[in-house]
This record gives sequence, C-alpha cells and structure tokens, in this order.
Amino acid sequence: MAKLPPGISAESLATALKKFADIVGPDWVFHSDEDVALYRDAYSPLWNQPGELVASAAVAPASVEQVQAIVCVANEYKLPLYPISTGKNLGYGGSAPNMSGSIVVDLKRMNRVLEVDDKRHYALVEPGVAYYDLYRHIQDHKLRVWMDCPDPGWGSVMGNALDHGVGSTGPAFRNHWAAHCGLEVVLPNGELMRTGMGAMPGAKNWQDHQFGFGPSVDGLFAQGNFGIVTKMGIWLMPAPEAFASGTITVKKHDDLIPLIEVVNYLENLGITNGLPDFGFGLGPMFIGGPAQPSGAPTTPKPDGSVDIAALDRYADEKQLPFWTVTLHFYGPAKVIAAQWEYAKSRFAQIPGSKAIDGAAFNLPLTSENLEKSRTTRQLFGEPDLSIFSLAARNPFTPTPGSGLMWFAPLVPRTGEAVLEAQKTLWRIGEEVGMACPRWLLPKSYFQRSFVVIVPVVITRDPAVDGKHVQAYRDFVRIAGEHGYGEYRAHALIQDNVMDAYSFGDHALRRFCERLKEGVDPNGIMAPGRSGIWSKRYPRSQA
Ligand SMILES: Cc1cc2nc3c(=O)[nH]c(=O)nc-3n(C[C@H](O)[C@H](O)[C@H](O)COP(=O)(O)OP(=O)(O)OC[C@H]3O[C@@H](n4cnc5c(N)ncnc54)[C@H](O)[C@@H]3O)c2cc1C
Repeated sequence: MAKLPPGISAESLATALKKFADIVGPDWVFHSDEDVALYRDAYSPLWNQPGELVASAAVAPASVEQVQAIVCVANEYKLPLYPISTGKNLGYGGSAPNMSGSIVVDLKRMNRVLEVDDKRHYALVEPGVAYYDLYRHIQDHKLRVWMDCPDPGWGSVMGNALDHGVGSTGPAFRNHWAAHCGLEVVLPNGELMRTGMGAMPGAKNWQDHQFGFGPSVDGLFAQGNFGIVTKMGIWLMPAPEAFASGTITVKKHDDLIPLIEVVNYLENLGITNGLPDFGFGLGPMFIGGPAQPSGAPTTPKPDGSVDIAALDRYADEKQLPFWTVTLHFYGPAKVIAAQWEYAKSRFAQIPGSKAIDGAAFNLPLTSENLEKSRTTRQLFGEPDLSIFSLAARNPFTPTPGSGLMWFAPLVPRTGEAVLEAQKTLWRIGEEVGMACPRWLLPKSYFQRSFVVIVPVVITRDPAVDGKHVQAYRDFVRIAGEHGYGEYRAHALIQDNVMDAYSFGDHALRRFCERLKEGVDPNGIMAPGRSGIWSKRYPRSQA
C-alpha cells in the first residue's frame, strides 16, 4: 500500500531510511506495509482507491535533536516529510500526508508536559502531549487550571491548535490557535527557531506575551508547511469556583437576528464567558438530533426559501421555540448569577422570548452535576471520547457510515448572515449532490465569526465516496463564490479551499509559495499542506 515519494527511487529511500534508523534506532523507522498502513486516513473517502493519500514510511523521533537530524537527511535525499503530533485529525485527513509518498514524522514519543503554571495560567508542551496527558498532569499536580479541549480527548494540544482546532469553554481559550503563546520550530534547513519572546534567549515571559518584536511568524506554522513545531505554549483557564447556565428561547424565525445581536453584545463585553450554544426548536439538525415532528412545514422550496409565516404559525401552534441559545458562565457563584440576571434583562427586549434558568453549581465537577448540566465534560475542561457515540449505530443512525469529512465554512456573526447561509448552503448542496441540512446551526467556537459544520459521510463504496469528494470540491468552489471560506479542510480538498482564497489573483498563495521556495528550496516540508506547493513538487503533482 505504501507509495514511493515522487521522483525518488526505492534504493534511495532505503538508504535514507537506514540513516533515519541511525538517528532514532531501527525500532522507530516504519516501512513495512503493515506499519505504514497505520498512518492511513481511517476515514479516507478514497479507501483502497488509486487517489488515496498514503505515506511511504514513518519515523518517530524522541528529541528535538533527532528531528533536526531527520530534516538534514531529508534535505540530503530530497525526501518529503509530513509531521504529525498524535495524528488523530479525523475528518480532515487523519495522519495521512497531503502528498502520497511523504514520510510521516510521528512526534507521539515527544510527549512531555514541560511546564504548567497555575498562577500565570499556561502550559508548555511537546507535540505528543494528548489532552488526556495534560489533564492527568493537571490533576496529578493539583493545579488550579483548566485546559480547553476539542470533543475527542485523544488528540494533541499542539496538532489541534496547529490545524486551528476548537473547543468548548471561554472565548479566550476555545480558539486553540489564538490561545497558543510561543513556538519552537525545526525549520526546513534543520535550524531551531523560537517565536515571540522565545526569540530572546533570556526572556522570562515566552508563554505570556504572544508577539515579541518584529513580524509575528507563528501563523506560518499553523495550517502551513514551513517547519516542524517541537514546543508550544498554550494559555489555560484559571479553575473557576462555580458554573451556571441558562437558555433563552425565541418564538419566530426572524428572532434569530436580535438573538445573535444580544449574544454578541454579551460575549464581546465578557458578560457571558462560556460557549453560546444555539439550537433549532422545530426539528432535527444533525445526526442524533431529535425526531422531526410530523407535519412540520420545514421543507424548503427548490430555491432554498421557506414559508416563514407558515413556520412561525407552526411554532406558535405547537408552542415550540423557533431558536434557542444556551449560555454558560464560569466564575464566583454570586458574580455569574448576576451576569445571567443581566443577560436575561437584555434578551427580554425580544418580544415573546423566555429565559429558563439552567444548572448552577459549585465546582469541581461531580457526576451528579454533570448530569444536571445536560452538557458534556468538555465544558468543564475534561477530555472524553463520547462524541464518537453520535456517529455510532443509534436510533437516529441505524446504518452508520465508515467515517466522515467535515465541511466547515465560516459565516459572519449576524442573524441575517446565518439565515442567508442556511438557505444558500442548502441550495448549493442540492446543486452539487451533497446533502446539507436546511437548518444548519451556527457554532460559536470563534468569538467573532460563526462556523457551520456539515459532515460528509464516508461509505467505503468507491462510487458513492468518489461522488462525495467531487461534490465537496464543487461545494467549496460555489460556496467560495458566495463568500463562504472554510476554516479548515480535509487534506484532499485543501487545494480547492486555497483556490477560493483568491483575492489579488491568488496573492496569498503566491506569497506563501515564494516564501516556501526561499526557506524550503528542496520542498521537503509537508508538500501541498493548505494548497501550498513548491517547484520541486508542483500543484499538478497532487
Ligand atoms: C467526531 C469528531 C469530532 C471532532 N470534534 C472536534 C472538535 O470539537 N474540535 C476540533 O478542533 N476538532 C475536532 N475533530 C477533528 C480532530 O479529530 C481533532 O481536531 C484532533 O484533535 C486533531 O488531531 P491531532 O490533535 O492528533 O492533530 P494531528 O493530526 O497530529 O495534527 C493535525 C495536523 O497539523 C499538522 N501538524 C501536527 N503536528 C505538527 C507539528 N508538530 N509541526 C508541524 N505541523 C504539525 C499536520 O499537518 C497534521 O496533519 C473531530 C473529529 C471527529 C471525527
């Protein structure tokens, strides 16, 4: 199954792998088909098909010096590398490289939590530190901080942040890339660089101050292919004393507009400091959603429009809220109770809205309180894997798929924009043959913009999955023409997404590729990542 890197002979690869073995030890170089298969994308839509992205081999260093030495050998033999932290990027390409034949640099062995400061609220981690590892470290040392984690807790703090991943607590923490502070990077020529204050050897605030002096180059390493990150700082949340939640319901379709306006006001002022969670009161959203009430007039017309008056009447007759938003609060009990009271007074200005008090309790979390909160552990900085039960066989998903790809376009944070996106994206979905729910919910992971997330189900039927890949590509192009760009994308689709970010006749991509040529002349670092290629491995290679 393994594939050779383009233009590299089997002999040359074998010689280079021997050199890797001299660096990391023979046990940590993987080239048998059986071993390399572990780096396949378990959710690949092109499973066993000629276009499936697969590595040629993998190497697992245990130290920064070993990473540097690997990069030097890669330059000598002009071998493409593909670094992963824990390689659990399911839905976006797993641990498979953007370009088949690349050698996966598996950083799981570098898994030390180097520092956690519970007075300045940060951690410094190596690539292989999974959320479970950091959580255990915090618990074992009785540190008064919370980490923010994505739904699957088995991924890495670093890999997730480097792919712009997201979680569920406060706005300053759940946007993981925005919460990173300071990187250490092995550059494509093998040099070691530190960013931010880390560039100053004597600095004592590498994990406190993000920018240092001069251009901030950190962004080149997130969704980029300019180096292998070996250390990263991440800001943590001070462990709060108490938690509270409350839900606002509104009656009409267009009430989403003032609802979002108030949420923005409250969140941007810091009055609500947890993840605002929007809901649709009339029927199912995603896999696992509540059953559609019979007779609901939610079916769209071919142009995506709906009979809003009929829907409003339906909601009224059935006494169903049209939209809901649940707010979460962290802090001292008295303070957050006052914050919720104030929030209620702002929402009360929306005619017909109702406020429902949710769970409120002191922390640390108990199982009883978790149940009372009717939410997930992630809201309390605790990792788990329960998200996978959503896509497993259940009453709503009797025949589960074999995985999924996430389609995740960004939408401006207004009700008007959400209502427009719901209609437009549904219509594009119908046009290209990729089902897109009509009532997509805005997700508030990012403080200043919404993302809507559509799972593209993998069936392992080549004809069906092949059509889905093409539909996804078409969707990205047409959605791009309407101004919707993805925040992140599956490796197979990244060229298409970058194509849509075309301002100035693709000035962004040209700039990145010029930089790439300058700092990585042999094109060894993750060719094709985010649609950035090089002369050695041009886009047509893909
Ligand atoms: C059901 C389900 C739910 C999910 N929910 C969420 C969610 O809530 N939030 C979310 O963000 N994601 C979610 N995901 C996506 C994904 O599972 C997580 O983002 C996961 O944390 C990513 O895997 P990882 O941490 O192992 O990163 P990795 O796979 O290790 O890294 C991701 C990518 O970053 C780059 N990279 C990694 N490490 C380095 C390095 N050291 N140097 C340079 N480049 C590097 C590589 O290109 C790599 O492919 C979900 C997926 C599924 C299937």
